[in-house]
Amino acid sequence: MTEARQERSDWLQELVESMYEKHASNNAGEVATYIPELGKANPDDFGICVVTADGRIHETGESDKTFTIQSISKPFAYGMALEAHGPDEVSKHVGVEPSGDAFNSIELEPGTNRPFNPMINAGAITVSALLYDYYRDEAFEQLLGRFSAAAGRALSIDQSVYESESRTGHRNRAIGHLLLNFGMVPEDIDAALDLYFKQCSILVNCRDLAIMGATLSNLGSNPITGMEVFDINRVKDMLSIMFTCGMYDYSGQWAYKVGVPAKSGVAGGVVAVVNRQLSIASYSPRLDPRGNSSRGIDVCVDLANELGLHAFDCMNEGSSYLKALL
Ligand code: GLU
Repeated sequence: MTEARQERSDWLQELVESMYEKHASNNAGEVATYIPELGKANPDDFGICVVTADGRIHETGESDKTFTIQSISKPFAYGMALEAHGPDEVSKHVGVEPSGDAFNSIELEPGTNRPFNPMINAGAITVSALLYDYYRDEAFEQLLGRFSAAAGRALSIDQSVYESESRTGHRNRAIGHLLLNFGMVPEDIDAALDLYFKQCSILVNCRDLAIMGATLSNLGSNPITGMEVFDINRVKDMLSIMFTCGMYDYSGQWAYKVGVPAKSGVAGGVVAVVNRQLSIASYSPRLDPRGNSSRGIDVCVDLANELGLHAFDCMNEGSSYLKALL
């Protein structure tokens, strides 16, 4: 590494550490308990990891601590469904409009009966149904394999979280049966729901999430292993939907304040992606009332400001981050 690159890398590491120092004392929010097993998380855990699109890792805090991916699985599963069925077929089953409602709301688009988008549960369960329809009994293995390739290591599921959600996921079952009622999903809704519960229970740490995000910022190829993971043509679709719908019913404010595609999950993970530049991941399980990690939001707001990442920031330094390294 040249001296200039090393200096820039050291500076980014210090920035990540300063974010930890600044936000560690924020104890706002509550750990999710509606999936009983999630309530066992240590509320104080806090990790931050930034991975550049050329594969450099800058991390601090509990970046090794594993937690379940939950809704952060949704854009990646959506990408797989787009690849399997093609965008035209997928769009017959799920839309791309922000709903402005909670992630678990029981509602479908008037007129078409499609879920509004694949980032809310109704849309994500539809995506799982499309993946199950395509891969059948291989579906979970395919999904886990793809997520592992994006993270650059073999991932596995948290069996107790999976069983906990499977046992108590009545609302998601209701959504699944509503989708079946309107002919939005193929017959085998129980298998699709099982796939959905399993995909949400995949264990990741903050570094895994940042590498998965960096895979999207690196045009679909994992920047560390070099493996091509997602079709470059679908990465744009995944990032677009993360930009408009990724942060639950906070997505509009997020686009306004942070201005980059992102996705959060109820276990406390957040991943934000800057095309061709870098990915930011944070883990802190205390959630705000909308289901987003409180510290995770604060870290991303601050990093976006410090690094000039907002897509519409005229100063948009983030876009030249790597240029400065060359
Ligand atoms: N498995 C969770 C559910 O369906 C995911 C929710 C989330 O992370 O937003 O309720």
